Amino acid sequence: MKVQVCIIGGGPSGLLLSQLLHLQGIETILLEKYSREHVLSRIRAGVLEHGFAKLMREAQCGERMDREGEIHKGFHIAHDGVLDHVDLYKYSGGNSVIVYGQTELTRDLYEARERFGGKVVHNAEDVALHELKSDKPYVTYRLGDETLRVDCDYVVGADGFHGVSRKSIPKDVLREYEKVYPFGWLGVLSRTKPVSPELIYVKHDRGFALCSLRSQVLSRYYIQVPLTDKVEDWSDDAFWAELKRRLPEKVAADLITGPSIEKSIAPLRSFVAEPMQYGKLFLAGDAAHIVPPTGARGLNSAASDIYYLYHALLGHYKKGDDAGLAGYSERALARIWKAQRFSWWMTMLLHRFPDRLAYDDQLQRTELGYLFSSESAMRQLAENYVGLPF
Ligand SMILES: Cc1cc2nc3c(=O)[nH]c(=O)nc-3n(C[C@H](O)[C@H](O)[C@H](O)COP(=O)(O)OP(=O)(O)OC[C@H]3O[C@@H](n4cnc5c(N)ncnc54)[C@H](O)[C@@H]3O)c2cc1C
Repeated sequence: MKVQVCIIGGGPSGLLLSQLLHLQGIETILLEKYSREHVLSRIRAGVLEHGFAKLMREAQCGERMDREGEIHKGFHIAHDGVLDHVDLYKYSGGNSVIVYGQTELTRDLYEARERFGGKVVHNAEDVALHELKSDKPYVTYRLGDETLRVDCDYVVGADGFHGVSRKSIPKDVLREYEKVYPFGWLGVLSRTKPVSPELIYVKHDRGFALCSLRSQVLSRYYIQVPLTDKVEDWSDDAFWAELKRRLPEKVAADLITGPSIEKSIAPLRSFVAEPMQYGKLFLAGDAAHIVPPTGARGLNSAASDIYYLYHALLGHYKKGDDAGLAGYSERALARIWKAQRFSWWMTMLLHRFPDRLAYDDQLQRTELGYLFSSESAMRQLAENYVGLPF
């Protein structure tokens, strides 16, 4: 088979790009390692920047997001015995974020690919990338007993952190930057009314916690746990009890608990691979970079990659202009590093580090005190949280 763009990975990055290109008459095929049900069973991000939402609308996938997503104009930070409010709307100059689950967004994208007759191959095993430095790159994969080949102009590696695309770039070309944090987030999804209409980030002596949500009937809560903990170590009752210990008293009293419908531990990591291009291969989303989820930047960083890559491919196919493709890596990385900085900053601000010094505790307290006493510090937080412009 021959297509213009072969996309590897059926997460939000790959699906969004294939849908956008399809609408412009650019032919794609998308190869996903797992079944659609498996991809849709993963519970991940939930906070979208308006830039992402705009792309979803451009991809003709924004209808349900606009109907069911919630506009959030602020969030809370509980720390040192107080519950402070971050007014995103005021300090970002009238901007906000949309709360809409990644699972629902991915479902909308899959439905659109189906509606538009997009080529999506599930259970594509042993995906391998070939001849990336030539004018005739191709991708092979196995479907059952059959090995198939896709010839293409470009390959897009949108196959997440553990995918094969980044690993296809020679080691002497790729530079990797990584910071692994000494803890993870234990997350619980429950069909209960969220304790607060807005997110509450909690810095506590027992560790970080977050009260998040997917809708007004679906709550997502997290607590910081050591990397040695296993999901099986945590019964629902133990989770709720630990969460309550970390919440301000009034919030803990209002918390409605219920059976978990999903429970998982995500290790926290910051990671960037440079460059994001190698010959005819372009990396996008988690395939090239990871952030700890504290600043809600992961999915949103994937969106800015897709925006740059989509426009670069449009430039090539519609105008014969390859400047966008040539500059893709540099342009994407400039924004990625800002998202890295912000995610690192929020993670350092709110977590309890096992090897911290009393000095570090004082710095955290001072930083939070400064944040809530300085309009310019608050503006910095707000403009990063709602998303820097693409
Ligand atoms: C547990 C967890 C919790 C998270 N929570 C948050 C959050 O609260 N807020 C936030 O902003 N971000 C969060 N993130 C990050 C966010 O979910 C990601 O940034 C986002 O999923 C990136 O989308 P993507 O399409 O680039 O990658 P992915 O969603 O990882 O999609 C990659 C796809 O490629 C497929 N694939 C992998 N290998 C191959 C292969 N060899 N061949 C073919 N296909 C392959 C995978 O099955 C997957 O479907 C979280 C991530 C994780 C893992």
